[in-house]
Amino acid sequence: TYSLGPKIRNWDEERKAWLLQNPEYPNFVRGKPRILLLTGSPPKPCDNPIGDHYLLKSIKNKIDYCRLHGIEIVYNLAHLDVELAGYWAKLPMIRRLMLSHPEVEWIWWMDSDAFFTDMVFQLPMPKYDKYNLVLHGYPDLMFEQKSWIAINTGSFLFRNCQWSLDLLDDWAPMGPKGPIREEAGKILTANLKGRPAFEADDQSALIYLLLSKKDKWMDKVFLENSYYLHGYWAGLVDRYEEMIEKYHPGLGDERWPFVTHFVGCKPCGSYGDYPVERCLSSMERAFNFADNQVLKLYGFRHRGLLSPKIKRIRNETVNPLEFVDQFDIRRHSAEST
Ligand code: UDP
Ligand code: MN
Repeated sequence: TYSLGPKIRNWDEERKAWLLQNPEYPNFVRGKPRILLLTGSPPKPCDNPIGDHYLLKSIKNKIDYCRLHGIEIVYNLAHLDVELAGYWAKLPMIRRLMLSHPEVEWIWWMDSDAFFTDMVFQLPMPKYDKYNLVLHGYPDLMFEQKSWIAINTGSFLFRNCQWSLDLLDDWAPMGPKGPIREEAGKILTANLKGRPAFEADDQSALIYLLLSKKDKWMDKVFLENSYYLHGYWAGLVDRYEEMIEKYHPGLGDERWPFVTHFVGCKPCGSYGDYPVERCLSSMERAFNFADNQVLKLYGFRHRGLLSPKIKRIRNETVNPLEFVDQFDIRRHSAEST
């Protein structure tokens, strides 16, 4: 069957030795695990040119969040393995990054169509100490209902370790495009509740793997639903004004969602489940909602959630540092940890 590369068996030992030999690249910095956020998009321009503009907004949003929280970022535009084009492209890239950056403790995959909408919220990493994979999901949807949306693979965390390499190896075989992916899609549709008939996708394949080999894998998988590591956009984007009125960033849950993910929107491709205009205006709202949290330190905000134009929210001052104390997100999030 298909494989991601030569079987690696001793990664934990190799990596441990490397970390000892390279103390200037520690996997924990000031007590926090080093995290690398990986995102990407197809190698070619979007079918719909406006899609490229939203990819730009999406990477700007991620750069802002990662800069504020000391997370490194990689943008991938290549298909490392032609067999795993499309949504499967994340697998070989995650593996490649683990092996090329032994100093990174966690790889955080995030789709291009997912936006950070809470710029203050920080991942509760100590909670994941004993786990190797963190997914947004619900155990009952997974194990009772076998639903194809029990978990979401648009934003998830993988620890850099042997276990993760093994899981990637076990996850990949349904990915090769063509007859293998087509046939695997039939198995997934037959076994997962609510799944339409189409070729195998990475999300369904992971659910199917975790269901069929629960004992092997699940003790190291954390299904997170106390905040929106992934939040489905349709229930969120129309409530931003209400959130602004009632709540504040830093909550990360339905009161102020950490991530708003545009599942089913394909502004870059030619075909999606929703009208492209609705997708684009909703993305615009998510982007500006987040950008206002960034602009606040600089004394600006967007004129409205649909407006790229900004306006001043305070006067210039001869004592600029008073605003740094007040509005620098990094200090406020440091307090909350
Ligand atoms: N992607 C990629 N290269 C590709 C196609 C997709 O890196 O050639 C990434 C991109 O970030 C995208 C993600 O894979 O958001 C998931 O794919 P897609 O958007 O098609 O699926 P959806 O998020 O709608 O489930
Ligand atoms: Mn997505």
